[in-house]
Amino acid sequence: MTITGEATVVKNAGSHFLLSRLPEWAPFPAVLKGRVRLRAGDSTNPVAVGDRVRYQAEVQDGADTESISLENPASISEILDRKNHIIRRSTNLSRQSHVIAANVDMAYIVVSLYFPEVKLPFLDRLLVTCEVYGVPATIVLNKVDVYAGQAPEYMADFHRIYTGAGYRVIDTSVVTGQGIDVLREDCRGRVCLFSGESGVGKSSLIKAVDPSLSPKIGKISTAHLQGKHTTSLYEMYRIATGGYIIDTPGLRGFGLVDLKKEEIGLYFPEMLKASQDCRFTPCTHTHEPGCAVKEAVEQGLISAERYSSYLGMLEEDGKFRQ
Ligand code: GDP
Ligand code: ZN
Repeated sequence: MTITGEATVVKNAGSHFLLSRLPEWAPFPAVLKGRVRLRAGDSTNPVAVGDRVRYQAEVQDGADTESISLENPASISEILDRKNHIIRRSTNLSRQSHVIAANVDMAYIVVSLYFPEVKLPFLDRLLVTCEVYGVPATIVLNKVDVYAGQAPEYMADFHRIYTGAGYRVIDTSVVTGQGIDVLREDCRGRVCLFSGESGVGKSSLIKAVDPSLSPKIGKISTAHLQGKHTTSLYEMYRIATGGYIIDTPGLRGFGLVDLKKEEIGLYFPEMLKASQDCRFTPCTHTHEPGCAVKEAVEQGLISAERYSSYLGMLEEDGKFRQ
């Protein structure tokens, strides 16, 4: 008999997929068959981890998805509308893009103040990307055991800049266990994307949140991403306490979005808020008289660091748009 239903893509292996009817965790294989309506524009993969899809499958009478096998996979008949998605592009100029994940409830951007030292303009670019794609972002400041004693003022500065900009910052340490419970609780019942520059402790954090994921996390090498076969890399894991994690290896090509000069300020939430009082619309918040953003920077209401990232993006923007 034929069964149909809706499920979430939990693994994208290029030509085949694993689906599960979340919150139930019972993944079953599926393939794309026939003419599925494609929606992801010029991306290399029409279906991404996190996509909600309709499937149909032939099973024995009375059976359900547990009887679906690799030999007799379900077929994906429709990809349902996405609430958001996040894209990685190969290079600035390339038209090729890859949908990393869809329907993400929270992106956790893991950073460290030392080894590797977070580069604020880079972090700000990632935050802008999340804003553009409509993915809420939380910053995870890891390795706090290292600098809490040595450089508390550096930590305080980081908090001032990012909580000031309206972002949540969770302090964590895999060494002392600080913040791990907070993170675990935060992930409950949500689809969570973890990203971070290599070395910040992203794998260690995921393993601390759920030790049973240890064998699976951090195994994907970034080297693969430079190759052509970038479609088999993403997978969603269920953490024991409920909640789903998508581990994104490396950050190259992530955080590149095409924005017009006048749009960039819309994706710095604190500037967007202040810009309502700018005399001119649109305002680039650079040379215009009566600019409320510049005034807020002078008064210290918007951090000089974030404003400087903004100016950097304005300049780059000009460069990339020939
Ligand atoms: P990833 O590349 O982001 O996945 O980073 P890893 O999880 O592989 O960690 C990189 C290095 O940082 C390893 O040597 C970890 O032991 C270390 N590390 C991770 N988290 C912490 C932490 O909270 N405190 C300290 N002191 N070291 C950490
Ligand atoms: Zn302005």
